[in-house]
Amino acid sequence: MADRTLHGTGATPRSGVGTVVWYGRDISLPDPDDVKVDPEAEGRRFANAVDTAREELASEREATAERVGEDEAAVFDAHIQFLEDPTIEEAVETMIGEGQPAPNAVDAAFGEHIEQFEGMDGRMAERADDLRDVRDRLLRLLTDGERVDLGDLPDGSVVLAERLTPSDTAQLDPDRVAGFATVTGGRTSHASIFARSLALPAVVGVGEALEAIEDGTEVVIDGDSGEVLVAPDDTERAAAASDSGAAVVDASVETTDGRHVEVAANIGQPAELKPAVERGADGVGLYRTEFLFLDRETPPSEDEQYEAIRETLDTFPDGRVVVRTLDIGGDKQIPYLDQPDEENPFLGERGIRRSLGPDSDLFATQLRALLRAAADGAGDLAIMFPMVATVPELDAALDALDTAAADIEKSDAVDVEVGVMIETPSAAFMAGELAARVDFLSIGTNDLTQYVMAADRENERVGDLHDPSHPGVLRAIHQTVTAAHEEDAWVGMCGEMAGDPDLTELLVGLGLDELSMSAVTIPEVKTAVSDTEYSTASERADRAQLAATRSEVHTTLDT
Ligand code: PEP
Ligand code: MG
Repeated sequence: MADRTLHGTGATPRSGVGTVVWYGRDISLPDPDDVKVDPEAEGRRFANAVDTAREELASEREATAERVGEDEAAVFDAHIQFLEDPTIEEAVETMIGEGQPAPNAVDAAFGEHIEQFEGMDGRMAERADDLRDVRDRLLRLLTDGERVDLGDLPDGSVVLAERLTPSDTAQLDPDRVAGFATVTGGRTSHASIFARSLALPAVVGVGEALEAIEDGTEVVIDGDSGEVLVAPDDTERAAAASDSGAAVVDASVETTDGRHVEVAANIGQPAELKPAVERGADGVGLYRTEFLFLDRETPPSEDEQYEAIRETLDTFPDGRVVVRTLDIGGDKQIPYLDQPDEENPFLGERGIRRSLGPDSDLFATQLRALLRAAADGAGDLAIMFPMVATVPELDAALDALDTAAADIEKSDAVDVEVGVMIETPSAAFMAGELAARVDFLSIGTNDLTQYVMAADRENERVGDLHDPSHPGVLRAIHQTVTAAHEEDAWVGMCGEMAGDPDLTELLVGLGLDELSMSAVTIPEVKTAVSDTEYSTASERADRAQLAATRSEVHTTLDT
């Protein structure tokens, strides 16, 4: 390889060193020069694989329709349609006729269509995932391929892949895996969010150059600089291996002048509990429950949701677990939920809007699961609603919670706090009225910043504007905290801003009572809270939010 250093986007500010294991390459295609192809036999093999795939899909469809419902089974219809698509079938047959082995023809014909879909927007782009699933199913049948078991990798492995789904990432054991790098993906892709929760060194979006690295090569994954370093020397290896971040602080923390600040973890599924505990989280400040709904064909049942939340409550017997109800929409698309095609999905049917509308049944099921878990689990459950913009929305969500409480057996044993996420400018302006109805608010700066600054959180071109340290965002935070405290509600923050140790003093000074973040920076933030003097921080924060520009904000913080 010409250049030893490949550049991508750092997903976790940690480094690791290890040996490359490729994931997703284990379906190896035959070299057409090495095999003598009999087009007729290959054509039959292809036709048989299509038949078997159709049978598999039909029986998976039937089981799903029976277990869950017709709507949820519809995803298999889409797969069957792609399997039987005459254009793709014809392309495969033509290539086989020209002397290609069947797996190579399938790979090439599907590859062309996948590329076309990838170039489109929104829901069309997601069809690329359906096509990949169908292609992989056929390739597995044609090659007897089996995948590397991500849950059972040798110690010190570095996983390289085209992309990793949340469930792929969740299987990685941070005690054994040294890191991962992917060809595609950005900082806010699900794989990145999970990597941060698992405190796993990770670089995403490296591009096709990654593919030149062979299995068994030693590499450094530098999630801070976003680099993958091939064949490190002794110094580089030692530097990467010794990077374990700040010392873990297990106890809860307070400022030098005695103000307690809760430091909690953001999680999305049970696999993230262990790293949260290991990095000293006081509890969970944001459980993104929609991740329990991803990467499956049907929604999780009430009991499955109960188990996931119960496990979390039992993991933090003396702590608080804040569970956010389903936040679907925007960039979070769930194929089996029949989401509308929207011009502006981030300004469309998201979060509570869906829970009070088309997903009201799922919402009721989820609320029952949460309340049952609260009745039985050890820790204290808090429930919060995402994307609230108006007081009537909150009132309707509270009514749904009352109905769910009346529907469960042990309602007398349930004592939960209830809160609202502050992610829209309207919610920040209405913080007082909202706080008067609940126990707490939690500021979601990822969305609040995008809506206050009118800067898409996923669009690198406006990345400079999507920065919560702009005074416009700080004023929204200040207004929210002040209004909520007047109503005796506590205020947390669970957007990415909360996990930046350089901003801890500012946030403590703004009056935040809780900071919740991906597990990786919990030790740094706890240390920063302990080093802060609240009286000084508060005076600085007051000045910072009155600044005219972001650079003035930073000057105020540095002096
Ligand atoms: C946020 O918007 O800040 C937040 C925590 O929610 P999510 O990132 O899941 O949209
Ligand atoms: Mg959000």
